Formats: sequence, C-alpha cells, structure tokens
Amino acid sequence: MALTGMQIYKSLPKTNCKDCGVPTCMAFAMQVAAKQRALTDCPHISDEASSSLAEASAPPMKLVKIGSVDSTFELGQETVMFRHEEKFHRKSGIAVLIPSTDTDAEATAKVNAIGSAVFERVGATLKVDFTAVEIDGTADPVARTKLVADRSAVPVILVGKDAGRMKAAVDAVKDKRPLIYKADAANVDAFAGIAKDADLPLAVSGKDLDELEQVSQKALDAGVQELILAFGTEHLGDTIRSLTIARRAALRQRFKPFGFPSMVEVSADSPEMETIFAACAAAKYAGIVVIRGTEPWELLPIMVAIQDVYTDPQVPNTVESKLWEIGSPNEDSPVLFTTNFSLTYFSVAGEVERSKVPSYICVVDTEGLGVLNAYAGDKISAEKVVKTIDGLKVTEKVKHRKLIIPGLLPIFRAEIEDTSEWKEVIIGPENAREIPAFLTNNWK
Ligand code: SF4
Repeated sequence: MALTGMQIYKSLPKTNCKDCGVPTCMAFAMQVAAKQRALTDCPHISDEASSSLAEASAPPMKLVKIGSVDSTFELGQETVMFRHEEKFHRKSGIAVLIPSTDTDAEATAKVNAIGSAVFERVGATLKVDFTAVEIDGTADPVARTKLVADRSAVPVILVGKDAGRMKAAVDAVKDKRPLIYKADAANVDAFAGIAKDADLPLAVSGKDLDELEQVSQKALDAGVQELILAFGTEHLGDTIRSLTIARRAALRQRFKPFGFPSMVEVSADSPEMETIFAACAAAKYAGIVVIRGTEPWELLPIMVAIQDVYTDPQVPNTVESKLWEIGSPNEDSPVLFTTNFSLTYFSVAGEVERSKVPSYICVVDTEGLGVLNAYAGDKISAEKVVKTIDGLKVTEKVKHRKLIIPGLLPIFRAEIEDTSEWKEVIIGPENAREIPAFLTNNWK
C-alpha cells in the first residue's frame, strides 16, 4: 500500500540538511511518495524508521510464486475486494488432482490430458495451470512424484499429510519449486520445517478461521516466507464466506496471518457440481482451485469464468484495427466489417471460420465497443467505415465491390453505397452464429 508524503515525512530526521540533494525533508518525502527517490537516499534515517516504513508500505497480501523459472505461476498481491475498485491483478489457476489410487498408467494419461487441455477464447490461450499429485497412500511417493513432475509442463502441487512422505517427495523435485499442500494443526511444525528448509511455498489450513490463523502464524514463526490459505468446499456458502473474511482481514486490517492468497480444493457429488463449485470459488478470491475432472466440458466453463472475472474492467478488450484474413481469401472472397471489441471480433471470426468460406474481415476502431454500443456512443459511422476500408486498401485485395455489413447497422447501407466504391452493400445477419448459413447461401 503506497504511503503518503506526510506519512514518510513523519519518519524523517526533519533537519533539512540537504545531504540527499533535496532542499527540505518534506520535499524529499514527496519525491519518495511519488517513487522518484528511494528512502535509502537519506543517509540519516534511522534503521527503526526505515524498517517501519518498509513494513507499512509492503503489500497487504504477499506475492507467492510456484514453479521453476521456465514455468512459474504467480498469485497474490491483490489490492481490492471488488474488481470495479481497481482490478484483480492475478488470475486464478486450475489444478487437476491425480489421486494416489491411480495406477502409473492412469497418472500418465492424466498428465497428458492436462497438457492437451488447451483452448483459444477471444484471443487468449486457456489451459490448466497445475498438476497436483497425491503422495499419501502410494507405495513409493518419490517414484509417483517424479513420474508426474517429469512429464508435467506446468507447476506441481504435492498433496499429502504425512511429513515423512512429503519430505521425500520434496527432496525429489524441489528444483521445480512445487507447492506443499497442506499443513494443518497436526502437522504444521513438520511441514513448516520442510518448506523452510527447501524455501518452498506452503499451503496452510484449519477446521475454521481461528485454527487457520493459528496454523498460519506457526508457519510464519517457523520462518516460511510464502503461504497460501487453503479451504475445502464441504459447504460452498461457508467457503465463500471464509474466503471473503480472510481477504477482507488481509486488505482492510492488514492482518498478517491472512495476508496471503487463497486456494480451494473442491469436493462435490458430481462432475457438474465440481465445475460449478470451482467457478464460484475462483470468482470469490480463490487463487487456485483444485479439481479432479479432465474433460474439456468440465474444464472450459471454469476457464471461461476465470477469464471473465479476471479481465481488467477498465481496459477495453480490443483487437487490432486491420484487414484480417480468415482462411486463404482471394480476389473473389467476401469482405465483411465489424468492430474492434475482442468478443465481437472473435465471435465473427469464429463463425466465418466455421462457414469454411475464406473471407476478409475489416476491423473498425470503435475503442473497444461492440456494434450497437459503438453506434449508440457515436464511435462508428458509415463515413468511418468507408475511411477505414479505404485506409486498409481493401480494393487492392478483391476485384468485386460488394461489402457485407452487420445486420444491426442496416442504416449504413445507403450512405456507403453513395459515398464509396462499394456499390453493393449487403446487409448481413444480426447474430454472428447466423454467419455460416448466410455466407453459404448468399456468397456465390
Ligand atoms: S538527507 Fe535526510 S535529513 Fe537531510 S534533508 Fe534529506 S531527507 Fe532531510
């Protein structure tokens, strides 16, 4: 949390000695608050004042890094309860659990399924973020851990309660910087020791928030630097409540035992409920959700929910305003136009692709607004469409002069025909999903 100039000034010597190169202590404090100078530029500040200022300006929620240099996942350092206040800084990750009851062949198949669960949506790549391997109960925790960690392209979470088995698993893969999951009231001393010695992040849990506070504090006292608060989903309402209380305590009260990101291990009666619970937990502050499902229909809804919640609401999602080629269009291919709002563009592009009619899509800059919003907000006009198409030299790409316009903007037709080379303006469908049938039936 940023300190004000006045808060910094109170800790300075107030001698105005100018040794920092600034005329007064107040001016120096203002420059530090504006991040133009470092506190250490004052040679006379006491160690005590320096450390208390550093502590006061530290983020209320710590950053936690899981994974090795080539595959790291960061969570934490969030600053707000609601994304409209600023934004959520780090999106939730999805972990898929490989139970200890799986055979080696089943475990290998699951790691492969995790690696191939990759989807494209509105220009972003969505994927599973962690492989969670359960080490309790397996004959050899080291062999199982190595089997999974060696094949996993994403960071690993070690799941177990037995300190001896966890230590053996950690020793086998600590260079991959796994998350140790999880310490509870019974094993926190041993688990904190393992995490501290290997300098690894540790998930802590408790049967309620009071116990969680005690376990977290014990891990902190033992010297563990990176913690994650772990919750279950026996009752989803209670889970959401606990996630909210912990976050509020961290951000609003700077309560240190809860000053860490959270995670939720989902338990549900059916795969459908697991997907719903995971999406709900991710939407309400869980930095990681642990699930068991690996089917695309189970994973994709959670990924979409995370993508939607963790998109910065103050930055319009846009694509470049240019002439996009779908397939391999030629001089006879259709030309369509749409706006530069990502969701609009990718909906149109996806349906054009589905039509299998190679096409050009001319994207008009509407400052990230969809078709109707852009029209209502005066961000698009027939004149602007013509200007964009002229600028992109579309007439050099096709020999015809037919332009397909969105069905929501039929009013543009006459003006475009009257003021441009595009003498045949065709009113396209209102909904993107109607594009394949429209192109197939209307473009000869
Ligand atoms: S060096 Fe320190 S004490 Fe001297 S003017 Fe700068 S801030 Fe003040």
